[in-house]
Amino acid sequence: MLLPKFDYHAPTTIDEACSMLGHYGAKAKILAGGTDLLVHMKKRLLSPEQIISLNKIEGLKEAFSQNGTGLVLGPLSTAAYLADSRLIQERISVLAQGASRLGSPLIRNRATVGGNLITARPASDLAPPLLVLSAKVTLKGPRGERTLPLEDFFLGPGQTAVQADEILTKILIPNIQGISAGAYIKLGTRKALEISLVNTACFLELAQDGSIKLARVALGAVAPIPLLTPSVSKILAGVKPKNMDDPVFREAARAAAQESKPITDHRGSADYRRYMVEILTWRTLKNAYSQLMEKV
Ligand SMILES: Cc1cc2nc3c(=O)[nH]c(=O)nc-3n(C[C@H](O)[C@H](O)[C@H](O)COP(=O)(O)OP(=O)(O)OC[C@H]3O[C@@H](n4cnc5c(N)ncnc54)[C@H](O)[C@@H]3O)c2cc1C
Repeated sequence: MLLPKFDYHAPTTIDEACSMLGHYGAKAKILAGGTDLLVHMKKRLLSPEQIISLNKIEGLKEAFSQNGTGLVLGPLSTAAYLADSRLIQERISVLAQGASRLGSPLIRNRATVGGNLITARPASDLAPPLLVLSAKVTLKGPRGERTLPLEDFFLGPGQTAVQADEILTKILIPNIQGISAGAYIKLGTRKALEISLVNTACFLELAQDGSIKLARVALGAVAPIPLLTPSVSKILAGVKPKNMDDPVFREAARAAAQESKPITDHRGSADYRRYMVEILTWRTLKNAYSQLMEKV
């Protein structure tokens, strides 16, 4: 099916892109990798008259370390880049794991992290890893720039805190102080090109005395938005597990299942999804904890 007609713009700076977006208003759409936008246009669900591509703007396609602050991800970093980057694998492997499970190699080569967050699918493979890493997003528009925690960004399926005239310009991952590890598991009904039935990401950080300083678990596809689970953080904070089979991980996994709000659809029942949240959370916690034990 052919795409509807549109004018194509390729600004070379963020400021230029912002002023174009301000000028054309609701008639315009930002283009990153196009794996969502072009599909919607082909299906005639969207027919923007003006397409503003970010692809000619330099410096948006990579991650870099910012002195003292942490890691900065360019919004045009693709899933393939995030999965393969040495920096991401070494510093925040949970994101590399999530990115490696997104779609297929073809999709991963095009799909960007910025586009993935703006699309706000409950089953996103990148949102849970970024949530457990305490990521923040920077948005730029005619009223200036603002930065907000990713946990305040998702409002509902396909809905975010981004205004129509704002561009997502950066994703910030704060510095991680101590020994840390993360894990991601995606459950689908088949092994490739699959949207998650349930996914879970976890991130653990150890204190000097070997107790858990910080624990964060996020869930995908079991609520209208990718979901953080504060009760899991509460149960695990300050605990010194005996080993990776410590019952506290079971207790935390049960709490995650209680926080999930799954629905029944043609791909799985709510009960099955809730049960799998418990199993997958337990597995990610055990996996992350065993990585930690190898590091100490
Ligand atoms: C076959 C197929 C399989 C898929 N499988 C998965 C999967 O397994 N897991 C998963 O999570 N996703 C999956 N997706 C969804 C998709 O690939 C991701 O959501 C992708 O990351 C979107 O990024 P993009 O660069 O292609 O966005 P685009 O399509 O370019 O843009 C998406 C939306 O975000 C807006 N936008 C993009 N970047 C910005 C920005 N910087 N600032 C403001 N607005 C912006 C656009 O205007 C548009 O509204 C799949 C898609 C397809 C077609």
